[in-house]
Amino acid sequence: MYDFHIDTIVTFIKRRNAKVVALQMPEGLKRHALKLSDEIFSKSGARCVIIGDPCYGACDLNRDFRRYADVLVHIGHTRIPSMDAADNVLHVEVQIEFDPTELVAKAVPLLGNNVGIITTVQHSVNLPRIVSELESRGVKCFVGKGDDRICHPGQLLGCNITSATAVEHDVDSYLFIGSGNFHPLSVAIETSKKVIVMDPVMNEVRELGELKDRILRQRHAAIARSADVMRFGIIVSSKTGQDRYPLAMDILERLERKGRKGDIIVLEEVGPERLMPFDCGAFVSTACPRLAIDDSMRYPKPMLTPIELEIVLGDRKWDDYRLDMILG
Ligand code: SF4
Repeated sequence: MYDFHIDTIVTFIKRRNAKVVALQMPEGLKRHALKLSDEIFSKSGARCVIIGDPCYGACDLNRDFRRYADVLVHIGHTRIPSMDAADNVLHVEVQIEFDPTELVAKAVPLLGNNVGIITTVQHSVNLPRIVSELESRGVKCFVGKGDDRICHPGQLLGCNITSATAVEHDVDSYLFIGSGNFHPLSVAIETSKKVIVMDPVMNEVRELGELKDRILRQRHAAIARSADVMRFGIIVSSKTGQDRYPLAMDILERLERKGRKGDIIVLEEVGPERLMPFDCGAFVSTACPRLAIDDSMRYPKPMLTPIELEIVLGDRKWDDYRLDMILG
């Protein structure tokens, strides 16, 4: 089902004259790692070292690969253009093609006349065909160009939906092509427009409405629970593409101006057990913006985004709730 672009990988390895290759990929693709390693060895003669640690996004490029390997092959995510291009790194986009005809027919009655088309890198290859099928049925499609954190038109990251907001004023709804609710949820929260999901894995078309309301209720509760907290842990990620240390310092100063206290905690991998030793009343994450939104139920204490902290401190109203994003 997946095309790992093995010829591109082999050409890259040969051009770099690499003897050892570090392979990095997200959890969903790791089951293909051994087969891929065998194939790379047989076609290029280079051995592979598989990076077994979790990898959540292109923000998470392994920085230590030179200790084991000559080059890094990072599979399953696009390059983030605004991040410094690392030497000897190849990004391999893994895309899934499908026949959209049946799902397009199901989606059309749920869409408005002007629709923003959004997707992830895995499905961006299907965009031209879906746009042409929708337009032949009288739906006008808008595919926005994101900022410098985004590689392809219409592409979303969990932390950056600028390709959706770029066309927000032109459209009455969005059509997301891909599986899961992680990416379209951001668009539903940030734009307040109807988001329809065309999911080729589940082979279904669905609307996102109810999930958005549930998440917003959870966020409201986390903000309310933090109202009287006097000491906040401010999380900074040491991952290259998530590091927002200057924002953490701004938050620290903001807390102090309001007579509260903050402590900066630097982590590579954020999780409930890592935060257990710190006796703070709540945490604010400057790491991946989705930590607070998607994982909050795993944490015994409130986990806020920087924007939610502004609401706690009275610097922003709930009605002006915005999504935390990392812009390029
Ligand atoms: S910061 Fe989070 S949402 Fe953004 S690319 Fe990294 S893992 Fe994905």
